[in-house]
Amino acid sequence: MRYLNDFSMRAIYKKETHEDPESENNTYSNFTLNRNTQFCCEQFKTLCKKFTVWSYEQGKFAIVNKITYEGHSVQPIDFCPFCGEKIEYEDENNPKKIKKKKVKEF
Ligand SMILES: [Zn+2]
Repeated sequence: MRYLNDFSMRAIYKKETHEDPESENNTYSNFTLNRNTQFCCEQFKTLCKKFTVWSYEQGKFAIVNKITYEGHSVQPIDFCPFCGEKIEYEDENNPKKIKKKKVKEF
């Protein structure tokens, strides 16, 4: 019995909290994507190499939604735009319990 459909891409990030230099007693978080992230497909991997699709503010992959005079707004995505694979976001320091995949060895 193999549950290959169980696969979802796992984007592991590192969360860092910094003090906001512009306002006292405020902090902001910066999310860095783990370099060893396994991509669901080659297209998405290539896209990430060519363009910055990782949002450091949100800790998610994001695509440009709207371009305005002030800059642009982004839309975080939970699914790969190419193959439709679900993307699981996971904090490196706070890992989710991993469900054991049922893979029977032959
Ligand atoms: Zn994909």
